[in-house]
Amino acid sequence: MEEALYNKSITCPVCGKKIEVTRVKSRSCIVSSRDTDFCVYYKTVNPMFYDAWVCEFCGYAAQSDRFEEISSRDAEKVIKEISPRWKKRSFTGVRSPEKALEAFKLALYNVQTIDSRPSDFAKICLRIAWIYRMLKDEREKKFLEHALHFYYEVYEKEELPVGKMDEFTCMYMIAELNRRLENYDEAIKWFNRLISSQEARQNKVVLEMAREQYYLTREQKES
Ligand SMILES: [Zn+2]
Repeated sequence: MEEALYNKSITCPVCGKKIEVTRVKSRSCIVSSRDTDFCVYYKTVNPMFYDAWVCEFCGYAAQSDRFEEISSRDAEKVIKEISPRWKKRSFTGVRSPEKALEAFKLALYNVQTIDSRPSDFAKICLRIAWIYRMLKDEREKKFLEHALHFYYEVYEKEELPVGKMDEFTCMYMIAELNRRLENYDEAIKWFNRLISSQEARQNKVVLEMAREQYYLTREQKES
């Protein structure tokens, strides 16, 4: 296994078996660039590829920060609906983009099966879109559309902040994903809303990005 990676033993909260998950040493992650929707590229190993954990025994999969949180009611749903169809296979060790994609699709299948928040769907769909982008696969667009749909739901229904995402980042994502999907009027509407919000000054980084993307969208609309 690559030096940047290490395995950690955990107990699957669904089937109770011991499993190994592969993690990335944070000092091994060297950023090369960032896209305007926060997709990060690395000179070295990409830690995002390892962020969907999968139990090889029962098929339970989730993002690492949510993996151990599952309720007993949801765990039963996984055992009833996912495990019977699960073909045992391991996700430990080095992950290619394709393997990471497979792990995130399993995580998506799991959030569709159990009680989940729109933000769980949004995060997973966005990461699937990013991996397709890295693979230069046009299915990126389909998953950006799914992610966008869930960001609208996050904005309308969830109490923000959710994890690291505050209200302004959520608005920014709605605007930026609309821009990437060439819905320029809708993108301009949301960037504008963000730029003209007094409270948005709390998040200077996002506000500055919104200003830049607002002008870019207007240029794109006119060309
Ligand atoms: Zn399990």
